Formats: sequence, C-alpha cells, structure tokens
Amino acid sequence: MEKIDKAFTVDFNPYINLSRSHVVSVDLGHSTEGDVNVTVKIRCPCNYSCDYCVSQNIREPLALHSVPRLRAVYDQLDSFAVTFFDCGGSEPTLHPQVRELLELALEFGAAYFPTNNSVSPERWLPRKNLERLVVGAALHPEGEGKVDAFANNLLEIRDGGAHVVVIFVAHPARLSKIKDFDEYFSKLGVEMQPIPFHGYYSGKEYPLSYTEDERKIFEHSLCEGVFPHIWNWAYRLSSDMKIRDFSGIPCIAGFRTIYVDEKQQMRRCLYGLAPLERRHSRSMPCPVRFCGCGLQLDELNTYDDAFWGYWRQLGEGKSRRGDLRLEHEDLYRKNKAKYWAIMERYGKTKQLLADDVKQGKVNFPHVLYEKTNESLLEGLETYSYGNRDVHDILMSRSPGIFFNPSTKNDCLTTPYLDVLPSAKGAGRWLKITLSPAGGGSPGANCTVYLQDEQFSQISRNLLSGETNESNETGALVRYIALPEGLQRLRVVISVWDGSPTYIPNSLKIEQSACSSYANA
Ligand code: SF4
Ligand code: SF4
Repeated sequence: MEKIDKAFTVDFNPYINLSRSHVVSVDLGHSTEGDVNVTVKIRCPCNYSCDYCVSQNIREPLALHSVPRLRAVYDQLDSFAVTFFDCGGSEPTLHPQVRELLELALEFGAAYFPTNNSVSPERWLPRKNLERLVVGAALHPEGEGKVDAFANNLLEIRDGGAHVVVIFVAHPARLSKIKDFDEYFSKLGVEMQPIPFHGYYSGKEYPLSYTEDERKIFEHSLCEGVFPHIWNWAYRLSSDMKIRDFSGIPCIAGFRTIYVDEKQQMRRCLYGLAPLERRHSRSMPCPVRFCGCGLQLDELNTYDDAFWGYWRQLGEGKSRRGDLRLEHEDLYRKNKAKYWAIMERYGKTKQLLADDVKQGKVNFPHVLYEKTNESLLEGLETYSYGNRDVHDILMSRSPGIFFNPSTKNDCLTTPYLDVLPSAKGAGRWLKITLSPAGGGSPGANCTVYLQDEQFSQISRNLLSGETNESNETGALVRYIALPEGLQRLRVVISVWDGSPTYIPNSLKIEQSACSSYANA
C-alpha cells in the first residue's frame, strides 16, 4: 500500500480547546477517505494499583506481538488508520515492544495512546511522525503525589512533537481536586480532561449516580475538551443502554473499526471472537448476543463524533460528526430516543433476556414486554366522552392473569398514545383509571408512571401501595398534570418488589379539555 510519506499538509487542531493558543500543521500522508479505526490489544503488567481500576487490578501477563504480522494487517487494511490501544489492566509504556508498536501505528496513520505517564518518555516515545500522536496521560492517585515528575514527562512528550492531554478520572472522592489540577496544568498550556468514573462507590452506581452539581464540575470540559461532543451524551447513554443484545443489527465493527488481538488476528471487535479474513466493505449485522464494546451501531455510534473525526474532517474537508447545534441535553435525549427506537425496531425490547441475566451475561436491568405493544394495540379504543378524550386499553381478557416479572426491573408498557389536542396547553390534566383485576386489586406492589418518547419518566408513583385511591367499583384512579408541549406518552407499570401482580383488566386514560380536573 501507499505509505504515509508524501506531503499532505493540513491545518490541524485535533482537540479544539486543547491547544487553544496554537493550531499545528500535520502531515496526514494521504486522503483519509475510507479510514479505519484499529484497536490493538496490548498486554503487560501495570505498576499502579488504583482502587477504581476498571480492570480490577488484574495482573496481566506479558504478550508479545509479531510486528511483521501486525504490519501485514495494516497493509491489508490499505487505508488511513487511526490506532487505539486496548490495554486492559496493563500500563503500555512497560511493554517491551511499545516503541515499535507505536512507530508502526504512526507509519500507517495516527494514534491515541493511553498511559499513566509514570515512565520516562525517553524509554518509549516513538522517534518519528510524532505530530500524529495524541498521548492521554492519566493522572491517577499514585501520580498525584509526584505531580511535578508527571508534568516533566508530559512536557517532554510535547517537546518531542506529540499532542498531550491529561486524563483525570472523576471519581466522586476526587471531584474536589479537579479545579486545582485544572489550573496547574493550564499554566503549562496543557488541557485536563476529566472523564466519568464507571463503577460503584458508597453503594451507588456511577456514572448514573452523579448529582446535577457533581456533573457540573466536569461536564462542561467533557463537552468542550479533547473528546468533544461524544462524552456529553455517550457516557450518560451508557447507563441507559439496558439492552446490549445487538445481534442482527448492522454495526460498523469489521468495516470502519477493526480489532487486532495479541496473535495479530483481525477480528470485528473485542466481543466478536471469530477471526476476520478481510475487512468488510459495509456495516454488517452483529453476530453475537451480548455487546460490551461501547456503541458501534451503524445508525448510532460514538465513532462519528470521536475526536479523530477532526483529523478525517480536515483531511476530507467534510464532517461525519453529529449536529453541533444541539445543546448537550438535547443531544443526549435525541440519541437516547434513537437507541430505544433502534431496539424496538429490531424487536429487542420484546426479547426475554432472563436466561442471560441468570447466567450473568447481562448486568443491566431490562424491560420485559409480557404483552407486546401489538397485542395491547388490539385492545385499544379511542373515543370522546363529554369533554374528555379517552384511550381505553384492554390489558387482559382473562380475569386473574398475573404479570410475573423475571427481575424487579421488568415492566409492562402500553403503546404510545398521542396527547389529544384538547389536552394540550398549560395546566392540563390527565386521569388514569386502572380497572380492578379479576383476581384482586391491581397495583398493591406496582409503580405506574408515564413515559415520554425519550423514555424519561414524566410522572411517577402514580400508583404505589397504600397511597392508592379506589372508587366505588374498586378501580384505582389517579390524576396527573401534563407537562406542556408533550406530544406522546405511554404508561409503564412496574413491580417494585419483583413479585407477581394481577394485571388490571383495562387501563383507561382520559384527557381533559379543562385546566383543572376538578372542574372537568
Ligand atoms: S494505571 Fe490504569 S491499569 Fe494501572 S491500576 Fe491504574 S487504572 Fe488500572
Ligand atoms: S459485539 Fe458490538 S461491536 Fe461487536 S459486532 Fe456486535 S454490536 Fe458490533
């Protein structure tokens, strides 16, 4: 293949704010058309023992690469390659072949290299094409005590010609340090990028459990820093992705991204174990039942927004990145809705994943549709009654039917219903009536709430244990204020203690034209 050795110079600033003061010039070698993201597995021990280590401080045995075989893989890709390294619990600067591997990666394109920055760059820094290298130097707790040595290594890497960014894991116990370290590194002209902590701390799951105030401490730099644009939605969406069975859904792995393991076998991804003879010419359906590879779906992936998109963008003069005009919150909500729409379209939300849960393959709560939207739609009747518009949903034809969740997170949902014109506007109310179930009162152990199309709860605890009110027929009734501007909604019934419950025979949703239901 044509090696990257001829002049193709573009003005290049891969990380917008990282080098606020200067835009550097980079020789990208040739067009980035058809570029590919290569993840090379690298394994060796680590010299740190961070207590939040995602790899649980596992001691990785050393695995040596055959550099000629790795070169053959790059040759076969015949494309501008952006290389990432999958390090597991390793510190890659301790790997005896680190310099060779980096030099090879930079020969064929650009690279992002993660390190704890404890080892002198003299030992590992590649000797050429450094302008195509971005080093993510993580300041871990063990590095904090020797931050000046950390900074010296950083400056040495930068003086060598590579780009540097300091990565800081925003563990809840470290949030108070972000400001000071940010100031320290900005005096050196180096951007610090806090990244969300993934894991458990004080009985809470992160990043799901960051408070609004905690998120504010690091979120702005996530959205504007070295990994612009993806962090603001990708890290939040990762907590929402309750379904990870992407089998049959077209995915860019094997086409735009390639995984190379320690035997220099080309694979689609970390979880797709089958060796790949050659790179796919288009996105192909995912072949495995569980994906732990992040998000690489053809329709929704983090790669289009990844920072190296700038390199491609500058090389090609066009961008595949998402809509920059969207506010962070809007982008997150838009992509969350897109994720669930894809899952619904490919029938994933109807799948019973209980076996996977039992086998420990799925760690996430999931949604079980005991009754599908289609069967609920069959029982949907819409009519007007006085000044109200009514959706009446037949939930169960047989009295005494149980909803028997397989996990406490399973739930029943109705189809989406339009908010009728009469109920739009400020201060409108909606009345929900759950008819009595054949075998007993519904709802004793249920939470019933409304959900909008972005899968956000817009009202909760409509119905919960002792707070239930029932009318003379035994039906349970609740009134809910409708948020202004809401277009569509559905009702979700979940069982908070995981035990079976009677399915109500019907669920009636009345939308009132009056601004107060009391007057309706
Ligand atoms: S430096 Fe990285 S791999 Fe090593 S213990 Fe810390 S988090 Fe784990
Ligand atoms: S496991 Fe994930 S990354 Fe791999 S092919 Fe399937 S969806 Fe794509």
